[in-house]
Formats: sequence, C-alpha cells, structure tokens
Amino acid sequence: MEISFDKEIQQLRLGAGDEFHGEGILAVTKALLQAGVAYIGGYQGAPVSHLLDVMVQARDLVAELGVHVEACSNEASAAAMLGASIHYPLRGAVTWKSIVGTNVAADALANLASPGVTGGVLMIIGEDYGEGASVVQERTHAYAMKSGLALFDPRPELQAMTDLVEHAFALSEASNMPAMMELRIRACHLRGSFICKDNRSPAISSLSPLERPAGFDYARLAHPPSTFRHEKLKQEQRLPAARRYIVEHALNEMRAGRHADVGIVVQGGLTHALLRALQAFGLADAYGNCELPMLVLNVTYPLVPEQIAAFAEGKRALLVVEEGSPEYIEQEIASLLQRNEVRTALHGKDCLPATGELTPEALMQGLLPFFERHLPVADTRAVRALLDATASRRRELAAMLDTALPARPPGFCIGCPERPVFSALKQVQQDVGPVHVAADIGCHSFATFEPFSMGHSILGYGMSLASRAGVSPVMKQRVVSIMGDGGFWHNGLLTGVQSALFNGDDAVLLIFKNGYTSATGTQDILSTPGRAAKAGASDPTQSLTSTDRRIEDTLAAIGVQWLRTVSSYRVSEMRKVLRDALTTEFAGLKVIVADGECQLERQRRLPSWIAGLLARGERVVRVKYGVDDDVCNGDHACIRLSGCPTLTLKDNPDPLKADPVATVIDGCVGCGLCGENAHAATLCPSFYRAELVRNPRWHERIVDAWRRIARRALQPA
Ligand code: SF4
Ligand code: SF4
Repeated sequence: MEISFDKEIQQLRLGAGDEFHGEGILAVTKALLQAGVAYIGGYQGAPVSHLLDVMVQARDLVAELGVHVEACSNEASAAAMLGASIHYPLRGAVTWKSIVGTNVAADALANLASPGVTGGVLMIIGEDYGEGASVVQERTHAYAMKSGLALFDPRPELQAMTDLVEHAFALSEASNMPAMMELRIRACHLRGSFICKDNRSPAISSLSPLERPAGFDYARLAHPPSTFRHEKLKQEQRLPAARRYIVEHALNEMRAGRHADVGIVVQGGLTHALLRALQAFGLADAYGNCELPMLVLNVTYPLVPEQIAAFAEGKRALLVVEEGSPEYIEQEIASLLQRNEVRTALHGKDCLPATGELTPEALMQGLLPFFERHLPVADTRAVRALLDATASRRRELAAMLDTALPARPPGFCIGCPERPVFSALKQVQQDVGPVHVAADIGCHSFATFEPFSMGHSILGYGMSLASRAGVSPVMKQRVVSIMGDGGFWHNGLLTGVQSALFNGDDAVLLIFKNGYTSATGTQDILSTPGRAAKAGASDPTQSLTSTDRRIEDTLAAIGVQWLRTVSSYRVSEMRKVLRDALTTEFAGLKVIVADGECQLERQRRLPSWIAGLLARGERVVRVKYGVDDDVCNGDHACIRLSGCPTLTLKDNPDPLKADPVATVIDGCVGCGLCGENAHAATLCPSFYRAELVRNPRWHERIVDAWRRIARRALQPA
C-alpha cells in the first residue's frame, strides 16, 4: 500500500510518562506493545484495519522488540496463529472485522478455546455494527458465550481502553480463557490521549527463542476424550477464575448516584452515549457525573452473578442498555435475579429498540418510558420536545430528498479498472440475454448500484463461485461469478475454484486482478506487484500480469483449462471474451482474469513519479477525455454505460436544444473508458482524447509551432 504511517509509528515509540495523542485503535496498538505481546496477526477490515497496517509498516520497531507480525491470509489463519499460546507463555494478539471475520475464524476459535491458553490471548474485534456499518448486523457476543471467550467492551476513553488491554492479557492467563475486545466504529476512531508506559520485549521471542518444544500433552489437544474434560474445565475452573479477576481488579465500574433506588447496567462501549442521553434529562453532566447508579460492564462476558445481584440489591428497577439483538446480557441478568430471588423490576428491550445503533437519540427514546414508570421526578418534557423537533426536521429533510436532491449512491473511484468490465458485462447481455450474477465482497460490489445494478446475491468474502453451485444447474444461461483478487486469496480459490473443478461444474468466474485488497484499504496481497514493477507503471492500462502471474499460474496448476487474461480497460475485447465464456461448448470452469491496477493506489504514487520525471527534464503526458458539445446528441448512453463521476451533464449550449449534453469535468484521470465505450457500444462520436505534454521533444515542439501558425491563419482575428 502507498499510504505511509510514519507519524503513527513514532507514537508507538513513546515511553513511560509520555502522553499519547491519537485514534482509539492506535492507542490499543500501543497498549499491545506495552503489554509485552510476542506476536501480532490479523486480517484487515474496518474499523480495525489501522492496527495491522501500522504494525506491518513498523518493521524496525517490532524487530527491536522481537515481536513477530504476520499479515494473515484470512481470519481463520489469524485465529489459528493463536495456537502458539496453548503451550507457551507467549502473549498473542490478532485483529479482524466482526461479525464476518469471527464467522470465518470460528472453527479455529472453538478449537483454541477448548484446551484453553497458557499465554494471554487477545483478539481485537472491530464490531462493525450500526450507522456506518458495512456487514450483516449480528453480535460477536454469541461467540463469546458459545466457545467460552472473555469479552471486553471497554468504555471508549483511551486510558480505560489501554488499561483494559493489559487486563485482558492478565485475565486470559489467570483463567486460561482467550479474550476478545470488541471495539465499535466510534471507539476505533475517537481521538484522545493517555499516559504511556514503556514498550516491553517479550521474554520469549525471535530475540530469545526457546531451546526446545514443549513436551507432548494430549490434554492440550481439542480431541476426545480431552474435549470432555475441557468442557468441565470451562465451567468449573475457567469461568470462576475469570469472574474472580474481574471483581478483584474492578474491571466493571460500579458507580453510585443520587437516585439510589433505580439503576442502569450498560455495556462499557455505550457508556458515553448513555451519559449524553442522560444529560438531556438533566441527570448527568458533560464530565460524566451521573445522578443514577450505573454498572458499567467493561467485561460483558462472563457476567459476575454476585456483582449483578449486589447492584440490584435495594433497587426498584434496573434498565439494561444493550445494543442489538438477541438481548443476551438482559436474558442472563433476568435469570440471575430470578435465581437469587431478587425482586427488582427488569427492563431493557421493552423500552429500547431491538435493532440498530444505540445513539443518544435512540437512548433518549428508550429512557422516556423507563423514567415515566420508575423515576417520575425526572423531567421528561424537554426531551420530548427535543425528540419531536428532531422527528419533524427529519420528515422535512426526507421530503426534500424525495423531490429536490438526487440520490448519491457510493460508486467506483474515478478511473477504476472495474468499471469498464461491468460496462462490458452490461453490453454482452445485449448479445446473449440476461445472466444471473453471483456477486462478492469487494470494490466490485459497487456494481450493485446504478448504473449497473448487477448482482443477485452476496454470500461472503470469496464465496461467489461457490454460491452459484445451486443456481447453475437450474439456469439455461450460464451464471457469471464475480470475485476480486483479495477474495480469491482469502478463500475463493478453495471454496469456489476447487469445488467447481472437483465437481466438473459448468461455470464462469470473472476475477478482478487489481493487485490489492482494495476495499479494506488497499493492503498488499500475494499477487501485488513489487515496488520496482509499480515504479514503472506510467500507463494506466499497464498489465499487472506482466509482472506477476501467480493467479493465472495457480489456476492453471490446479487444472483450469479455459483461462483468459484481458486488460480491464479493453471493453470490446472483454465483451468478446465474456461472450465466448457464456456461449462456448467447453462445459468446465471458465475463468477470465480482468487485469488492471487499482486506480486509487496508482494515483497515490503518480504525483511523486511525475515530479521525478519533471525534475529530470523527461517527457510527461497527461491524457484527458472530453465531449464535443456540437456532436453530443444528448441521449446519455455513455453515462448509463459508465457511471464515472467525472462524466456528467451540463446545460446544452445550443439554445435550440433542451436536453443537457454530456461533459467530462476536471478530475478525469484519462483511463480511456469513455473512448472504449463509444467504440464498443457504437455510441455517437462525440468523445475526443487530448494529451497535455510537458517537456515535449524537439519534433513535438516543431509540430506544435506549425499547428499554432495554421490555427492563427484559419481563425478570424
Ligand atoms: S479502491 Fe481501487 S478497485 Fe476500489 S473502487 Fe477505487 S480504484 Fe476501484
Ligand atoms: S476517461 Fe471517462 S471514464 Fe475514464 S476517468 Fe475520464 S471521464 Fe472517467
């Protein structure tokens, strides 16, 4: 990747007493080094990508400490890496996006949690839930309960978060339970400060390796009959040990309040949103002081029954503030109170929304019925007025959006190599009829929006080819499966390609080879071109395959017989190859590799590359496309085949024509799609290609001088 994390890496070097300023996820990264972690791995994904991105670039620092960093091929390999801590007193940390990443990691996690760990294990989980989320809306909490993993949900304040990282390792060692820390989007990206400690070199590391492996111990294998004992250990030893640690180190915060006969139990990560909502009722202030007793659960699994019962003691009513469904915490508290014969009224999802992020506004709405029933002294009039005003403003805005403003769905970057391929796929369906498109996770999923609207299903990262296995046999027309190179290496090669070959399936797979896992932040993958190869990438249509054929070679090696590589920007050629794949008599797996580097990455390194050429006095050409107003017939077919943000509309300069004409605005990166589409779809000939040449050669200067003379002669003064 071309992004530099130099400034962030400097923060990781801070020592005892220094003050760290920055993002939550970077603070957690620093806390891992302070905790003496021996190895770090993971698979990138919002909102925790920066953890791994920074560590991968911090090679010098991690080498000094002896910490091993592994960019894993998927979340399953990251979770399996934690197996190092089963036998050895090594602290290990991994990271990924949840819930999807935890789903991928689930098998390894269950097999890790069964024998338990010796060295502390911590998974930093990006809980991608609520406004701004990009995955299915489920809760990681279910995995903690089912496999026996401690689940931290820290109050989003940097000192608390970093302290809890150290406690998570210590709790994991005290209980042998692997620990997870769920960080919501806002916790990852909030900015703040904390006082640092020195980084710690692990006792066992690449700098001081072990002399010999641990002795054979069948009890540490997740194999029967050991697994029967593991199940008992979880209940009889590990959970009690974890609960003891939570109480002895006051990980959950029991806060007193003036209204002592009601209380709120809140997930740590929601504390500040709750305080903001309580502020609207006049029950809290901007410094976090609150008039209601609160039990802040910085550890949401396991709960401590005695702690819950003690908090409920003497209270008429409790409200459990828990995000998402099912309400695992509320249900557990209900049964704890019942078992302990505590007669406190319990509320939660009967007041609060069952789905969606618990923003301060959602919390205000949920607190209203609770207070009206159990805290009548609370003044609810101001909150009702505020909520009514917000609802009315929202209705006004919705009406304006319906009528006055066009929708702005997300889309491909300007010049993205994936856009031309969908243009070709749109055009080929005019030849062969509509096809079922099995879509996937990645930038190519932007094709599910206008102007392409393609993709019948998305079953998970790298799953497109596997997801069409039940569709293909019942479809007259062949199904097209879309996959990025990130998804291919993540698991598409095994779940899709291997299965299709083994079963002799008649399938079409279109792989976008753009060189990176672009959608998660353009991280490098196995087939990313090397730095030397990228340095020469002046032409946007330059082939990645010329420098790396690992995808093609892998496919050929495992038996793919029908394999074509086509430049992403060659629309006519791509249209022809797609038609061939959809109509050929060859009945096996047909793979088309669409070859074109991620334009975002390319544009990041272009300025310094161009500056270097100019400094050396070398020739630099910038290509731009444009539309001739006089020729554009105003049917906008080019826009319907492209969707490029820089190909747009402007008023028709001809006063006799009402329809707006197409125009290319500043920002066009000259990818060539406009010209390719005009040619492949036989559109009107209104597009022109212009070259802006800096440091032209001598013969170009002469030609330019002659052209100027000719123009002056032909144009009236
Ligand atoms: S990040 Fe790269 S692959 Fe993704 S939309 Fe932008 S240019 Fe295309
Ligand atoms: S050539 Fe066309 S599609 Fe490519 S960046 Fe320019 S306007 Fe967009």
